[in-house]
Amino acid sequence: MAEFSFELDDDQKAVRDWIHGFAADVIRPAAAEWDEREETPWPIIQEAAKIGLYSLDFYAQQYFDPTGLGIPMTMEELFWGDAGIALSIVGTGLAAVGVLANGTEEQIGTWIPQMYGDPDDVKVAAFCSSEPDAGSDVGSMRTRAVYDEAKDEWVLGGTKTWATNGGIANVHVVVAVVDPEVGSKGHASFIIPPGTPGLSQGQKFKKHGIRASHTAEVVLDQVRVPGSCLLGGKEKLDERLARARERAKTGGERLKNAAMATFEASRPAVGAMAVGTARAAYEVALDYAKTRQQFGRPIIDNQGVAFQLADMRTRIDAARLMVWRASWMAVTGKPFDSAEGSMSKLFASETAKEVTAQAVQILGGNGFTREYPVERMHRDAAIYTIFEGTSEIQRLVIARTLSGVQIR
Ligand SMILES: Cc1cc2nc3c(=O)[nH]c(=O)nc-3n(C[C@H](O)[C@H](O)[C@H](O)COP(=O)(O)OP(=O)(O)OC[C@H]3O[C@@H](n4cnc5c(N)ncnc54)[C@H](O)[C@@H]3O)c2cc1C
Repeated sequence: MAEFSFELDDDQKAVRDWIHGFAADVIRPAAAEWDEREETPWPIIQEAAKIGLYSLDFYAQQYFDPTGLGIPMTMEELFWGDAGIALSIVGTGLAAVGVLANGTEEQIGTWIPQMYGDPDDVKVAAFCSSEPDAGSDVGSMRTRAVYDEAKDEWVLGGTKTWATNGGIANVHVVVAVVDPEVGSKGHASFIIPPGTPGLSQGQKFKKHGIRASHTAEVVLDQVRVPGSCLLGGKEKLDERLARARERAKTGGERLKNAAMATFEASRPAVGAMAVGTARAAYEVALDYAKTRQQFGRPIIDNQGVAFQLADMRTRIDAARLMVWRASWMAVTGKPFDSAEGSMSKLFASETAKEVTAQAVQILGGNGFTREYPVERMHRDAAIYTIFEGTSEIQRLVIARTLSGVQIR
């Protein structure tokens, strides 16, 4: 088992510095432009691919880092550069993890490379779970997948929403209902290969923040995919459904199911994104407070400003520690008895919202304009308390885990 240390080893430091260099030299200078364009920054994804920062190999290495710090370190640095562009770079990873977690070896080998493409022809992937009437309440999902046994094909129909890279992805991973009788246990994930007829992009959303990341509806109209596109395969699904039906009959309920464990393990990554944005805003505010003069002295000379900065930095460090703890627990297989993954996401995302708001305040009028990056960072930070489970849902998960009571 990997020993836990607060000090990154030399290899980790080298990787962190390399990512930071890309974030500082390539991402940050392009951030305002792509925020205004509200388009996927393809040239930047391509640059990342050319140096190996947008590739299956790189993310697999970080994902399997035995200390658990590879992914949080990567996320923090990229999102320090800019949240919208960074999400365009890491959004594919969400779909890739969906395949890694549920797919067979053959599915992993076939589809994940097609999600990334290659440096001369980069591709992105999308993970489509949310629906207009099924956001926090995943159990209300309506998109259906029906098996056509004669042809060994699945037929999918429904509308997905809020999909990062939805409609522009080469490969879409879609979660659909295969058995409505057993709630979320009757869901399964499917690969929709490139160019499959019936899949189209619905509306593209104009957003408050992370505007360089493409978010859209995905419409599935009688989409037919081969049986081999069911992640994990039919046999495994049938076994799982049989168990779920049996449990439904006997009224048994497992509080900690596999899906919950997966969320606990993936949520710290979102916490790390939030830490990156918060740190970026804090740094801008600290520099500004040291140089901006009012009443004949730098504004940081006032305790009212300096103490705010002290609180900002304290919260950011606390958030990072929670994220690192949860990431280490995930990789070393520790049970999330207190929902530590959800705790880290809750605290880090609320920290990003609070710290970016304080940064805007410290920059005064300048903080309110697009001449300075904290205005964008403040808009971007609002996403962290919404996606991958809202703050309220994190509190629900934490409270249920701690109390054992099905709090609603
Ligand atoms: C930019 C962006 C990118 C996204 N990317 C993806 C993606 O790639 N793939 C994907 O599948 N989804 C994605 N999502 C969807 C995201 O995960 C959902 O928006 C999120 O889960 C919340 O669902 P909702 O928007 O329907 O809000 P709702 O569930 O309608 O919630 C509305 C409000 O009610 C509160 N609420 C709901 N239920 C409860 C409760 N039981 N107790 C207390 N409060 C409650 C919520 O906390 C929230 O404040 C994305 C969303 C955005 C905005």
